[in-house]
Amino acid sequence: MYKASCLCGGVQIRIKQEIQNIYVCYCKQCQKAQGSAFVAIAPIDLKNLQIYEGQM
Ligand SMILES: [Zn+2]
Repeated sequence: MYKASCLCGGVQIRIKQEIQNIYVCYCKQCQKAQGSAFVAIAPIDLKNLQIYEGQM
């Protein structure tokens, strides 16, 4: 299981699966969405994502 949160800790999540692959994308959409030169993406099955604090 993995735990993560946003920077302020208001939203906290758990991921109940192994992360198999991590991708790096540098398309214009990802650059604009993240305000960065690239983004790291780890696809998961949504049924394994639990938001246990806050809302998204
Ligand atoms: Zn992209």
